[in-house]
Amino acid sequence: MTCKEWDDPLYHNTCRLFKNVGEAMNLDPNVLNRLLQPERAIIVSVPVRMDDGRVETFHGYRVQHNNTRGPFKGGLRYAMDVNLGEVTALSMLMSIKCALMGLPLGGGKGGVRVDPTKLSRGEKQRLTRRFTVEIVNDIGPDIDVPAPDMGTNEEVMSWIMDTYSQMKGHATPSVVTGKPVSVGGSLGRKQATGRGVAHAAMEAACHLGIEIDENKTAVIQGFGNVGVYAARKLAESGVKVIAASDVYGAVFNSQGLDVVAMEKRLGEHGTIKGFEGGEPIDGQEMLTLECDILIPAAISGVIDEGMAGKLKCRILAEGANGPVTSAGNDVLCQRQDEVFVLPDIYANAGGVTVSYFEWVQGLQNFFWSAEQVNQQLYTVMSKIFREVVSVHEEEKVDMRTAAMRLAFRRLSEAMLRRGLFP
Ligand code: NAD
Repeated sequence: MTCKEWDDPLYHNTCRLFKNVGEAMNLDPNVLNRLLQPERAIIVSVPVRMDDGRVETFHGYRVQHNNTRGPFKGGLRYAMDVNLGEVTALSMLMSIKCALMGLPLGGGKGGVRVDPTKLSRGEKQRLTRRFTVEIVNDIGPDIDVPAPDMGTNEEVMSWIMDTYSQMKGHATPSVVTGKPVSVGGSLGRKQATGRGVAHAAMEAACHLGIEIDENKTAVIQGFGNVGVYAARKLAESGVKVIAASDVYGAVFNSQGLDVVAMEKRLGEHGTIKGFEGGEPIDGQEMLTLECDILIPAAISGVIDEGMAGKLKCRILAEGANGPVTSAGNDVLCQRQDEVFVLPDIYANAGGVTVSYFEWVQGLQNFFWSAEQVNQQLYTVMSKIFREVVSVHEEEKVDMRTAAMRLAFRRLSEAMLRRGLFP
């Protein structure tokens, strides 16, 4: 039975997805029912002294979905549309993402309903520190490990780490991941998601018999954290990035865009719109360009039913969370022979994988070189790719279903092995 507190469209969609996949694979119904609800959902009110002297109260959430395989793990977002249902749905997806990648972690997610662009740095710091105090006994290296998400960054993580450490009386870097390297962050964490997406796309190309050379092309929607590092790795591997976009505009060059120059432009102007090494193109039209690799790395829901029918890419590597709507997914399932899909729970899992490496390094107080981090990341991404493809081929299901089946099997086996307490 659905608890009305987390009644939200994203939560319902996620439940539908879990049920469709779970029932078709004959997942133990007791396990499936358990996975449709989080273990714990925490709501706190967070009073913050604003710069003008007023005290404003914000609402904060931390949802802990499943910790059968290890501590809850997931991002903390600051955004105006944060609500308990959305955070719950995202925590469910983190549980299956961590299980799919074979990480000894569970799924969690958190957020504060606030417009971070309207906060001064001081207000943001006070909000973060008070929120941390409100949930201080519910997080910890062995309990629940937050990470950056929309509207939060490594600075916010260092404030959480400091507040938690002050409350506990000793430095506890492993309470969060995505921290600055100077306080125990991991080399390569910032680049991990984008690099992982690009690596996954190249694994897919190899699987499809497409040789990576200078005739291969990529299109990237969202030239932000994920998009920039995906573009960089693809360009370094010889792939031509022929188009890229951000929220302000899109640029195209059939001969390939200079990714480094585009990053420079982004640094100087805050956008790639107007980049001189290419010509402007409509952002929607860009998604339908003929290319080998398309990476949506911006927002959710951009590939709906109509767009899914128009895609002319050979590989769709989902850098963003949920870029394909459920109607769009139905179309892509029909077009499996034309468009090879790398679903978000796999394609963008490089971020949580290196977060796991950061957590391990912090617990051991033994830090790896950037080469070690990257090598381990690529080893994990390649291994899971082969596993998902085996399920896809042997069970004749689409790649998204294959990834979810693999995750559900790992999670349900752990749940059944541990059994129900008491
Ligand atoms: P970001 O804020 O750094 O970058 C987002 C980019 O998308 C920006 O360039 C922005 O201008 C662009 N954008 C926004 N709306 C757009 C639109 N309508 N059309 C075109 N471009 C648009 O964010 P990010 O960290 O790169 O995350 C991007 C996506 O990847 C999100 O869905 C996020 O949930 C997902 N993701 C990120 C990570 C990570 O480690 N950063 C990990 C897993 C998943």
